[in-house]
Amino acid sequence: AAEVRGLSRAFDGRPVLADVDLRIESGEFVALLGRSGSGKSTLLRVLAGLDREAEGTVAASDSAMVAFQEPRLLPWKRVWANIALGLDGTAPKEAAVAALGEVGLADHADAWPLTLSGGEAQRASLARALVREPELLLLDEPFGALDALTRITMHDLVLHLWRRHLPGVLLVTHDVDEALLLADRVLVLADGRIAHEEHIGLPRPRHRDADALLHARDRL
Ligand code: ATP
Ligand code: MG
Repeated sequence: AAEVRGLSRAFDGRPVLADVDLRIESGEFVALLGRSGSGKSTLLRVLAGLDREAEGTVAASDSAMVAFQEPRLLPWKRVWANIALGLDGTAPKEAAVAALGEVGLADHADAWPLTLSGGEAQRASLARALVREPELLLLDEPFGALDALTRITMHDLVLHLWRRHLPGVLLVTHDVDEALLLADRVLVLADGRIAHEEHIGLPRPRHRDADALLHARDRL
C-alpha cells in the first residue's frame, strides 16, 4: 500500500496541494481526475519520491512512474537495454525480453528506441516500469496522445498486466469515461485536495465492449 497524510506542496508561495490524505492498497486501481494545473503530476511526483520538498508524510514503498507522454527511452541504448537498466538479476537481458514479450514487443528487443512508433515506445516504457515488479504503478496521462484504436489496445493491455501483477495503480487521466472504465475508485483533485471520491462497482461491464472493438481492430 502507499499512503500520504497531510501532504502540502507550494511553489513560490502558491499552494498546489493542501493537506491531501490518500491511501492506495496493493492491487487497487485508482484514477485521478482534475483540471490542468490542479496538481495531479505534482502528487505523482511526490509518491514516486521525485519531490522531497513537500510537507507531510509519504509512505510509498517501491513505486515506478510511467509518464507516457514522454517515454524517455535512452536513444543510444537498444530497447532491451533500456528495459534492463538498473536491473540487478543474473540475467537482465532475459528479464527485459520477457517484459517486452508481455507488452507485445519481443520482436523489437534489439531495435533502437527512435525506430519505435509512439505507441510502441509507450509500451516499452510500460515494460520498463513493470520489469521491476513495483507495488505501485504511477501512470501520468498515458493514453492522451494515442489514436482511438491504439488507446483501446492500451486499456486492454494495462488491465491485463494489472490483473497479472496486481500492483496498486494511480492513473492520471483527463478522460472521465476512461477513469470509469478502468478504475475501482475515481478521485477528483480540486483546490489542492481530493474534492470527490467515487467507488466503482466491479465487474467492469464496458470492458466487454473493448473486447469487441479489439476484434474489430484485429481485422484492420
Ligand atoms: P496537467 O493536467 O496540465 O498535467 P497537473 O494537474 O498535472 O496539470 P501539475 O503539473 O501538478 O498540474 O502542476 C500544478 C501547478 O504547480 C501548476 O500551476 C504548475 O505550474 C505548478 N508547478 C508544478 N511544478 C512546478 C515547479 N517545479 N515549479 C513551479 N511551479 C510548478
Ligand atoms: Mg500533469
